[in-house]
Amino acid sequence: MAPPPDVLPGPRLPPWGCRCGCADNWASRVACRQCGGPAAQKTIQAARKAAAAEAKAPATGLKRPPQGQWANGAPGNANAKMLKTIQDLQ
Ligand SMILES: [Zn+2]
Repeated sequence: MAPPPDVLPGPRLPPWGCRCGCADNWASRVACRQCGGPAAQKTIQAARKAAAAEAKAPATGLKRPPQGQWANGAPGNANAKMLKTIQDLQ
């Protein structure tokens, strides 16, 4: 599900405070979570910059190819061992 447009991908810290009294808006928010008012220009720019960096290098690492001994699948006969263990348990 896509996040609401007032929350950008990126770090949630440091939080910023809004005039309405809401003091714990995520750094990646460009609008207050309580009143919807816009963040300070400085906060918005920092959030956009972080979001752009995030788009270039996803923090999840899911797109990173496997490396080292896992590059070509599970090392050795790890899969076969696991299947045997599962069969033994059944
Ligand atoms: Zn507010």
